[in-house]
Amino acid sequence: CDQMEDPRKAKGIVKREVIRTITPGTLLEENLPEEKKHNFMLSICSGNGNLAIAYCDISTADFFCTQFPLSYEKLEAELSRLKPAEVLLCGPAGSDKKIQNLVRYLGLCRARRPDGREIEEPDAQLVFQRHFGDLEVFRGKPEARSASGFLLDYLKSTQMSEMTYLQKADYYEENEYMVLDAATFRNLELLDSFSGDRRATFCHVLDRTVTAMGGRLLKKWISFPLLSREAVLQRQRIIAEFHDLPTLLPGIQEQLSGVADLERIISRLESRIAGLRDLLLLKKSLQAIPRVGKLVSTERANELCRGLDPLPELAGLLDRALYDDASSVERRHFIRDGFSSELDEFKRVITECKVYLGTLEQRERDKTGIRNLKVKFNKVFGYYIEVSKGQLERVPQEYIRKQTIAGGERYYTQELKEKESVILGSEERIKELEDGIFQDLVVQVKSCEAEIRKNARILAELDVYLSLGRVSYEYNYVRPEINDGTSFTVRGGRHPVVERMLSDTLFTGNDTSLDNERERLVILTGPNMAGKSTYIRQVALIALMAQMGSFVPAESADLCLVDRILTRVGASDNLARGESTFMVEMKETANILRHATSASLIILDEIGRGTSTFDGLAIAWAVAEYLYSSRHLGAKTLFATHYHEITQLSQTHDKVVNLSMAVAEENEEVVFLHKVVPGKANRSYGIEVARLAGLPEEVIRRARELLLELEREKAGGVAEPVFEKLPSLEMVSQMDLFGGISEQRKVTTEDSLKSIAEDLLETNPDKLTPMRALEKIYKWKKLLKE
Ligand code: ATP
Repeated sequence: CDQMEDPRKAKGIVKREVIRTITPGTLLEENLPEEKKHNFMLSICSGNGNLAIAYCDISTADFFCTQFPLSYEKLEAELSRLKPAEVLLCGPAGSDKKIQNLVRYLGLCRARRPDGREIEEPDAQLVFQRHFGDLEVFRGKPEARSASGFLLDYLKSTQMSEMTYLQKADYYEENEYMVLDAATFRNLELLDSFSGDRRATFCHVLDRTVTAMGGRLLKKWISFPLLSREAVLQRQRIIAEFHDLPTLLPGIQEQLSGVADLERIISRLESRIAGLRDLLLLKKSLQAIPRVGKLVSTERANELCRGLDPLPELAGLLDRALYDDASSVERRHFIRDGFSSELDEFKRVITECKVYLGTLEQRERDKTGIRNLKVKFNKVFGYYIEVSKGQLERVPQEYIRKQTIAGGERYYTQELKEKESVILGSEERIKELEDGIFQDLVVQVKSCEAEIRKNARILAELDVYLSLGRVSYEYNYVRPEINDGTSFTVRGGRHPVVERMLSDTLFTGNDTSLDNERERLVILTGPNMAGKSTYIRQVALIALMAQMGSFVPAESADLCLVDRILTRVGASDNLARGESTFMVEMKETANILRHATSASLIILDEIGRGTSTFDGLAIAWAVAEYLYSSRHLGAKTLFATHYHEITQLSQTHDKVVNLSMAVAEENEEVVFLHKVVPGKANRSYGIEVARLAGLPEEVIRRARELLLELEREKAGGVAEPVFEKLPSLEMVSQMDLFGGISEQRKVTTEDSLKSIAEDLLETNPDKLTPMRALEKIYKWKKLLKE
């Protein structure tokens, strides 16, 4: 709310009105929306079998819209990548239960018009038409126009403004960017990590941007990877320049860090909530532009920076008008001396009066003989003369009593009153004049809005290029070749995040070779903890990085473009949505099978683990075949699994490749080499990993025994192992060699014990494989039984 009239001139109660409704999706205040994150207000509209979403960040004036055939998965994907702060459901979408549930499940805030009214779709179309006119790209897309119209109406009604600074609506379609669905966004930990630790996200590793605008743009590049080879190469060329001149980067970044969030400053100005600080930041930013431009000397980056306009006149005007500390609370007048002669005149008068008042105290003391007489000022009573109790009889007649205080009296004189009114009147005029100048400055700035926004766009891009150039150099990334075919080859690839998180070991690089025509489906087996998940995710991240235009963590890479990255990783339930672990797993798999194309890259980390062994294996097998088959998908796929049986596919399908994670066994310990090697793994070493994880020794021993039996049964061709034949856990406990044997048996088994003890003494545990150890235990057990 604000006062709508000058309180000094208003009669009675000052008129007040609501001037803006602040909602989560329409924040503009400095530091309120997170700096390096867009704050989107988003509307969803459905109709004619289509879904349209329009979204706008009013703090940056970005307005986008897209439309696609009705798909709740696609909607979830869009909401996941955009993470809007607030969602408006319009038209039929407003009563669509599935959309309502999705919005609730994603924890998004639902918007309502401040006046509680809802406008109809024809009105929304009208709002769109009036604001943007007849935009070519929106022709034949009524849902997109409605979604945008509803959104505009909401913004106009909350901001109580015509939002004229929203001048552009960008329409895009699904096939313009790589598709990243909600699961992939989550599984690759692009912007958020599973653990909640920001350092563990992909974005954090790449983000060395120094401006808020750059930070936001980097997130956009991550969320919307490119599909055009030329566009990718264009970005690569600039990053390459910075990568090759690493010494330049810190200097440019330092200058660039002096640029404030121009996009948000200009939006605040447009929305009438900007303050002095915004103008000062703008001035400093404009002054920094030439310094940045001067340092950017490489060819293509220079070309980019050519569009920068430091607006010297505007910067000069702001500099002449405002003190550098104009926004500090200590500063009474913020317009510099010399900027306005009228203002200066009032300041001069005040100074004169104050000088006069400064001498008044001494003169009054001399005149009255009151030695401790004081001339003082406070905001409530203005100027006054203070006399202590003991001196009151000396007070001259012309003194007029103003106030009694504990220690004396306060007075004023006619002369003092006159000076006071000159000072206060001048202060008031100064305030009016300064406010007027501030408003003039705002008008001047607004007249340069287009140039400032252009500067912001260029500087944001430059910031991202510098960030990616710096990261590429410091982390030893290479520029990937981008081919037109279907082959995806990486030598010495690394996981960009895991390699940064390792503190005491080096990351082991691994090769990847995928090709729709030769190595289409990779079945990756290997022990737990060997690095399978890391490996398949690193391949997905390398593909994504390449299509962002970035360099990639590898020794070399020659990559084709992929139209979407689809992932299925780990086990998680979604009880809030009424879905069990297995249900989630199958839904994600179904989504992949429905949406993948032969140009997609799919990574599957375990499929079918949430159900019985044979059901799971059967599903995993069938899924692998479906992905492989060109009649169905024929997509490049990396499939990590503990179902070693699936490796048999390579015998019947020529484009299936078996890879495994190498391990070594040293002194009974499994050593993970993290190296991907040809061939299949024959064991999962699950029990060894369980032991490392601290499962009680007794459980481990029992598991080993069971495993041995199961493997024996399996080798003998028994379909379902017969567990009853195995000794129970209790029996195993009783057989604990030096623990639970009864007195009587101790005597009768004296010889056996002796021989076991001898055997034990001769055994060097460091040289014993787990298998040999088990054999010995069996032997000893047998001895004891006998
Ligand atoms: P599981 O089958 O139990 O899920 P996994 O084979 O998928 O295991 P990962 O989770 O990928 O194993 O890797 C386990 C850990 O090994 C990682 O957290 C990482 O610390 C380390 N690691 C993985 N790959 C490498 C590598 N190439 N170089 C160095 N360390 C690695």
